[in-house]
Amino acid sequence: MSNSMVECRLCPKQCRIAPGQAGDCRVRMNLDGKLTAVTYGIAAAAHVDPVEKKPFYHYYPGAKILSIATVGCNLHCKGCQNWQISQANPEEAGGFHLPPEDVAKVAKREKIPLVACTYTEPFVYYEYTMDTAIACKEHGVKTAIVSAGYANKEPVAALFKVIDAATIDLKSFDDAYYRKWCDGSLKPVLNTLVAAKEAGIWLEVSNLLVPGLTDSKDGLSDLVRWMVQNLGADTPIHFLRFMPHYQMKNLPPTPVSSLELAYKTAKDAGLKYVYIGNFRGHETESTLCHSCGHMVIERVGYQIRGVDMVSGRCPKCDTLIPGRF
Ligand code: SF4
Repeated sequence: MSNSMVECRLCPKQCRIAPGQAGDCRVRMNLDGKLTAVTYGIAAAAHVDPVEKKPFYHYYPGAKILSIATVGCNLHCKGCQNWQISQANPEEAGGFHLPPEDVAKVAKREKIPLVACTYTEPFVYYEYTMDTAIACKEHGVKTAIVSAGYANKEPVAALFKVIDAATIDLKSFDDAYYRKWCDGSLKPVLNTLVAAKEAGIWLEVSNLLVPGLTDSKDGLSDLVRWMVQNLGADTPIHFLRFMPHYQMKNLPPTPVSSLELAYKTAKDAGLKYVYIGNFRGHETESTLCHSCGHMVIERVGYQIRGVDMVSGRCPKCDTLIPGRF
């Protein structure tokens, strides 16, 4: 039995972990002097979702995506929608044996073209995410993460060499918000977003509008201007409606007026593909060519009603629609 501490360098918390103890995410432990991801190959959730639910709106629209997660997260957002598994201890949450090779084989056998590590934080189960991506690649299945992006540069760069796409949740452009409400910080998330762009993987951004906390015009203006300058105007953003959850049950759902203000702020800043999400039936659900306004992807909720593109281009004006189709 080793008495030595271990340090985890996966995320900015850089936990120093005593023997038998876990880091802040609860799932990376010091077992006999070795840093061990105890949820490796143990899925707490596995579902087949529409890719639009991640959300991805410019990534194989209408495709199914096999979505898996283990327990654990390195952030502790007060309004987390998946808190039952993200904030659970591994021994409490259960789960079932689903090694990376089996994820790839199931996707291949069921003709599901995409796999996502999602629901909780793929970076805290990093080795599982990485090995799943490698196994999927060998079986011709593409992989994505849905992540808060709160991780250190080296593991981010290594993962982005293997996966194909990411939706990163940029929760706010206010570092104080990250510290007070999520137990994280802003800069590492911005680094991850830039790294995704530099790696050339497909990137979409989500932003949950929490009433009174993340929906101010000035804050949103800063966020979308940074996106245009650092990620490019082609990067889609999804403004998601907040619903009361977990430790934020005292707040109301996001008013439509806030969602529409965010939409307008992003469009005014120059972002070409802006969506309002978690709000079925809103007119911004469909994708319009940014050049001529022709509807190239018609959506209702997560359902695709039609795709009207020719080799990824608008059939009316020949503009290239950003994405993977
Ligand atoms: S991933 Fe977990 S154990 Fe590692 S530094 Fe972050 S919170 Fe700590």
